[in-house]
Amino acid sequence: MEERTKTALVTGGSRGIGKAIAQVLAVKGWQVYLTYVSQPEKAEQVCTAIRGQGGQAFPFALDVRDRAAVTHFFKDRIKGRVDLDVLVNNAGMTRDGLLLRMKEKDWRDVLEVNLDGPFACLQEAAKVMVRQRKGRIINISSVIAQSGNPGQANYCAAKSGILGLTKAAALELAPRGITVNAVAPGFIATEMTEKLTDDQKEKINAQIPAARMGAPEEIAAAVLYLASPEAG
Ligand code: NAP
Repeated sequence: MEERTKTALVTGGSRGIGKAIAQVLAVKGWQVYLTYVSQPEKAEQVCTAIRGQGGQAFPFALDVRDRAAVTHFFKDRIKGRVDLDVLVNNAGMTRDGLLLRMKEKDWRDVLEVNLDGPFACLQEAAKVMVRQRKGRIINISSVIAQSGNPGQANYCAAKSGILGLTKAAALELAPRGITVNAVAPGFIATEMTEKLTDDQKEKINAQIPAARMGAPEEIAAAVLYLASPEAG
């Protein structure tokens, strides 16, 4: 049988938490496919840095909201070409606003990127992994999925949806040798939280027992464990 390259797919791997995840998986020997949507230069920089350390990484433009594009990406780049060991559903975005004033478009956009997109990637990845009889799927949720957060009804709904999707998929796919888990980070210092005002950041830090936001590498370490054979 033809030997295929062990591959990890990280959506939104061009910056923030996804970048840290791509880096740590590459160091551990996975060929990493990382996706971006708006900033190709950042995705290219991450891949160049990984290659500089002896790893393998390739950037792909893929808007996870576009179901046809996701299906096409798996058909063109994954199926029959590589062993898809790991999918990290990391791509995400926020469009904050108080409930009474939340625009329908902001609700839709956040649900599409943070819930529809991960479902599409999970479904396509599962089709490949079922044939392999092995695989690891790791979805990035958030602590606010359980706590709620004022001004983030759309994001809270999507991230809670991720937890439900993860649980159902885990039960369906475990008998096929595939694990499905979610990581729910607290507040992490990335461009996503950089846009908060100083006042908001101060209030957030005051609620965190460690009195600081987390670092992307701290989340990447949890993802690495869930991707490893030890997490079987
Ligand atoms: P970030 O710095 O804003 O990076 C977001 C990443 O997602 C970028 O790579 C971006 O690509 C990509 N992306 C955005 N929209 C996309 C789309 N439609 N299709 C494909 N990729 C898309 O975010 P982050 O803070 O690292 O967050 C990563 C994940 O962790 C998200 O799911 C987020 O909800 C979750 N999370 C974050 C925190 C936090 O405090 N930061 C806490 C809990 C959970 P481009 O660079 O090309 O735009």
